[in-house]
Amino acid sequence: RLKEGRALAQDVWSIFAAANLPADCINLGQGYMNFPPPKWVTEAAEEALKSVAPNHYSHPRGRIRLREALKQFYSPLLNRDLDVESEVLVTSGANEGQYSVFTAFLEHGDEVIMFEPFFDQYLPSVTFNGGTPVYVPLHPPTSSKLQSVSNEWTIDFDELRRAISPRTKMIIVNTPHNPVGKVFSREELEKIAALAEEFNLLIMSDEVYDCLVFDGKEHVRIATLPGMWDRTVTVGSAGKAFAATGWRIGWLIAPPSIIQPTLAASTRIIFCSNSPLQEAAAAGLEQAKERRFFETQLAEYTERRKILCNAFDDLGLKYTIPEGSYFVLLDISKVKFPEDYPFPVSVLGRGRDFRACWFIATEVGVSSIPVSEFYCEEHAQIGEAYARFAFCKDTETLNSAAVKLARLK
Ligand code: GLN
Repeated sequence: RLKEGRALAQDVWSIFAAANLPADCINLGQGYMNFPPPKWVTEAAEEALKSVAPNHYSHPRGRIRLREALKQFYSPLLNRDLDVESEVLVTSGANEGQYSVFTAFLEHGDEVIMFEPFFDQYLPSVTFNGGTPVYVPLHPPTSSKLQSVSNEWTIDFDELRRAISPRTKMIIVNTPHNPVGKVFSREELEKIAALAEEFNLLIMSDEVYDCLVFDGKEHVRIATLPGMWDRTVTVGSAGKAFAATGWRIGWLIAPPSIIQPTLAASTRIIFCSNSPLQEAAAAGLEQAKERRFFETQLAEYTERRKILCNAFDDLGLKYTIPEGSYFVLLDISKVKFPEDYPFPVSVLGRGRDFRACWFIATEVGVSSIPVSEFYCEEHAQIGEAYARFAFCKDTETLNSAAVKLARLK
């Protein structure tokens, strides 16, 4: 399976990379910012580069300053006094952290349940480590109205129960969800937790968008539900928190029984993460509260979300308002394009959404990501109805995108 199908196919991010698209195309595709990290965070990076120790290997667990900062930041959120030696692991981005968990825990043929659509990296990360992905749908909104809210993407808990087999090892929870923007409710997480307890499953809780939960909605951490700490690994990311996606600084918070084997895997995969930027991420977490950084950032993202959603309001196309993350799903099934358009080979042979997104990028001038990439091959057709637009861009860029998107009318 490792060398079959999607796992070794070209990834969507490099197909829709800005470099492949016209220079004046506005990039709302891959989720990275067009603004820098806060100055007080980059200054900490510059400081770190000037001293000797942070230019060298860090402890495979991560530099102690960042682990301490993570302890201070997460202990109140998880209602426990985290131990920096055994319950915190700094990774090379959230992605490598999750990969290392799979490496540490999956035996050949172990099944990993993921809600579909799913962040595309999960699939190859599971299969490369011998695991078998099992998909449980997030059912799309059924109403005929143009606007729906991300919580209208729903889980059928009988389907989830039926997906569990004697080989199930783990459930991946992703809240706020990429690409849907769904923020899982306490009730949904309690039901997932109950099944994890009943069938003795691990939970990988990918919460990299935890600082982007809108409208006063509650971000519930499944690790805080009764009995769940012992079986949950919580995943976080400096890239999302501090607009620094290229830094590749992420972290895992989990009990020693999960961190210890994952550390062994991570040590052999990367040995340690990028050292100087760990100091900068630490500075970010240390000062965030005093500077009210996450509150300010959330207000900015709320405005960005509004600009993009308003642009969609005028198009007569259906879309999902995200309650979290920085993605909006637009229903592109009614967007027409000539089938003989000069599409690149990388796009031909993929779903209709790949062609639609390419056409929108080249003719309308705004790029997005085709959502069939977030479905397994068998269910890809469901995803072909959608394009994902990222609003982690400055307001000027989003306003220009809104003007261009009007051409979709
Ligand atoms: N998390 C980013 C997104 O969804 C992309 C990450 C990646 O390129 N692998 O846009």
